[in-house]
Amino acid sequence: MNIPFSPPFIDQNVINEVMDTLKSGWITSGPKVIALEKEVVRLTRSKAAICVNSWTSAAIMMLKWFGVQEGDEVIIPAYSYCATALCVLHCGATPVMVDIADDLTIDPQRVKMAITSRTKAIIAVDIAGLPCDYNTIKTLIRSAKVRALFVPNSDEQRKLGRILLISDAAHSIGATYMGHSSALSSDITIFSFHAVKNVTTAEGGCACLNLPGNFNHEEEYKFLKIFALNGQNKDAYAKSKGANWKYDILYKGLKINMPDICASIGLAQIKQYKRSLMPERKKIAEKYCNILSNYEWFIPPTLKDFSRESSYHIFPMRIKHITEAQRDHIIEDIVAFGVIVNVHFIPMPMLSYFKKTGYNIVNYPNSYTQYACEISLPIYPTLSDADTDYIIDAVIKAVQAQMLHSKRKELAMVKTSYLPG
Ligand SMILES: *Cc1c(COP(=O)(O)O)cnc(C)c1O
Repeated sequence: MNIPFSPPFIDQNVINEVMDTLKSGWITSGPKVIALEKEVVRLTRSKAAICVNSWTSAAIMMLKWFGVQEGDEVIIPAYSYCATALCVLHCGATPVMVDIADDLTIDPQRVKMAITSRTKAIIAVDIAGLPCDYNTIKTLIRSAKVRALFVPNSDEQRKLGRILLISDAAHSIGATYMGHSSALSSDITIFSFHAVKNVTTAEGGCACLNLPGNFNHEEEYKFLKIFALNGQNKDAYAKSKGANWKYDILYKGLKINMPDICASIGLAQIKQYKRSLMPERKKIAEKYCNILSNYEWFIPPTLKDFSRESSYHIFPMRIKHITEAQRDHIIEDIVAFGVIVNVHFIPMPMLSYFKKTGYNIVNYPNSYTQYACEISLPIYPTLSDADTDYIIDAVIKAVQAQMLHSKRKELAMVKTSYLPG
């Protein structure tokens, strides 16, 4: 058996769409990117969507758009992929890490304690596809007390008049919050279309704008499209049409546009996402939960509750009463069965760069506790029923072997303690 962790979904539709782009004579940013943006708007009901070459690029772009710079702080959870912090650092600002709640999403009480007069934004991460507690965070940043602390330093900051709420939705395309698309829960929601994500363009990202009514979304969209292409007022596609060679540079933009060849992959996927690709993931997650819930050591991930439903991107199961070392042994055993699993995530304060710059995992005890007993199982549409049976079997065998091993060790220790001397 050889079950990969998260292969990209490539069917005939994807191949046809990519071939169509290749044969069209236009492979970089053009009609396919626009079509993908329209599909994202349709899926999420957002007011605007801008595709670029990664989540990371989109996050840097949106922080820069808001005027985040040196001296500013952005609150993020310690439990995420490094990009959540790096986008802040690339703007010269400081990522202020806070701990998570037991559902692995950012703890709103910790956010509250971390807000200062330097706070410009919060990036909440929809870990595994599960939306954060947005209502509590929104109530907090709209409260008179927190608004009074906010010091605006740019036109956009003055216009918003409060802390910007960004959702790191790298995992959560298609998730719902309070019965609506979860993208509507934040000012800005950013998806990743990296190769392992639910919808992929090989590399890519998309920023959805759902700003308050005093922002003109059409204008912001136009600005961001230009900003993402060196600040150039005409893209190459527009220039290729007739006597249209003259252009101007309007801003100190970034060069992060998404090529059509990439957009076509995502376009073919997103069209089948709500109807088939996401429901397939859901079915697998439910099967894992149903069967593994028979074991007292199993801690299921939150997939759905009264306010939200996951996009089933990752299946982050946890195991009761095990140490980090025991978890690592269990993973070795599962991999020996030919099943590739993963851990989401190594808390950022445990990574060299963040350690070196002053972050310490002891300040994020729940991030460590959750990380130490977490294992992410394969979950994707092309997994067969036999595959998931096999994965479940491998997990059960590996956990039970570990438990037996620990018991023997304990017993051996008791025995030696009876020996004289
Ligand atoms: C994948 C991921 C990112 C980064 O996405 P890129 O498109 O690779 O830049 C950011 N945040 C989280 C939580 C992710 O899993």
